[in-house]
Amino acid sequence: MIIHMEIGANEEAVQAVEDFIRKRGLGVEKIIGKERTVIGLIGDPQGIDENIVLGLDAVEKVTRITEPYRLVSLSRKRAMNGGKPLYTAVDVAGVKVGAGEPVFIAGPCAVESLEQMMIIARYVKEAGAHLLRGGAYKPRTSVYTFQGLGEEGLKYLQEAKNATGLPIVTELMSERYLDLFIKYGIDCIQIGARNDLNYDLLKEVAKTRLPVLLKRGMSTDITTYLQAAEYLLVGGNPNVILCERGIKTFETYTRNTIDLGAVAALKYLETHLQVIVDPTHGTGKRELVVPIGLAAMALVADGIIVETHHDPKKALCDGSQAISQQQLETLIQTGREVYHTARQALMKQ
Ligand code: PEP
Ligand code: MN
Repeated sequence: MIIHMEIGANEEAVQAVEDFIRKRGLGVEKIIGKERTVIGLIGDPQGIDENIVLGLDAVEKVTRITEPYRLVSLSRKRAMNGGKPLYTAVDVAGVKVGAGEPVFIAGPCAVESLEQMMIIARYVKEAGAHLLRGGAYKPRTSVYTFQGLGEEGLKYLQEAKNATGLPIVTELMSERYLDLFIKYGIDCIQIGARNDLNYDLLKEVAKTRLPVLLKRGMSTDITTYLQAAEYLLVGGNPNVILCERGIKTFETYTRNTIDLGAVAALKYLETHLQVIVDPTHGTGKRELVVPIGLAAMALVADGIIVETHHDPKKALCDGSQAISQQQLETLIQTGREVYHTARQALMKQ
């Protein structure tokens, strides 16, 4: 961190800044120019709040040199590994995310009935997916639409898991359902796009040590997103999977704008965490899900999460973006090939 003092800042103001920094256990390197003084911090600035520094007398600007996230940072992990990137695989009930094979997560938007879950779970398994999704608690824009089955939905998820052996991923909207998630053997907690900056929820989920699928919020920039993931790691939960699911832009043709550039930035520049893609919410149109899913595989994303339904016209939620069993099979089969081709090419670089 570098602190730029205002032109002509007096010695007293410079000394006050210096004292402020030293009191927090950091060293100081001062450059006294003709017009202004610049103060460099020596040590780890994580505990220094930029905004408080900015509020000190005669401070004009603060420039950060290190990322505001430490535990999720790729460069730190790389430095600890002799300069080579080292990614952290996540084990979801025996399914390894980030171990050289893409992971496919599929299922309906919402759990609607036991029968619906069983039908879908069986073909999801047959198609070669690794994990089963389905929302029991649904974050719906309109309060008048289907809100999910709640606990009953968790029960059906567990039954579908018992019948197929597929571990389950489902969304947690409030910490008050955590005990139920444990009771029904949820294998991976999804934090939805509307909750990625719900820090109290993140702190509670961190305590469980269960794998977490942290979706990026629709208006969350990459740095803020990684700072949210940092909450989970600082809270003691290293089992974090990131998920790009589209952001808000001026474009309204697609439900969201899928930000594949962010996926590349996260994976190759910023973090050692696993990064998967949700082409379903990222496009909102079933015709676009397989193409965008394949594009994600070309980036060597660590996996894909998609919505599928056996009878989308009757779906209680998000039917128009649900792909068919056949589309799911194409995505998984071709996706694997694209992933391996791209991975090999990128490893040669
Ligand atoms: C979902 O996956 O069901 C969902 C609601 O996604 P998102 O949080 O990305 O909108
Ligand atoms: Mn949905």
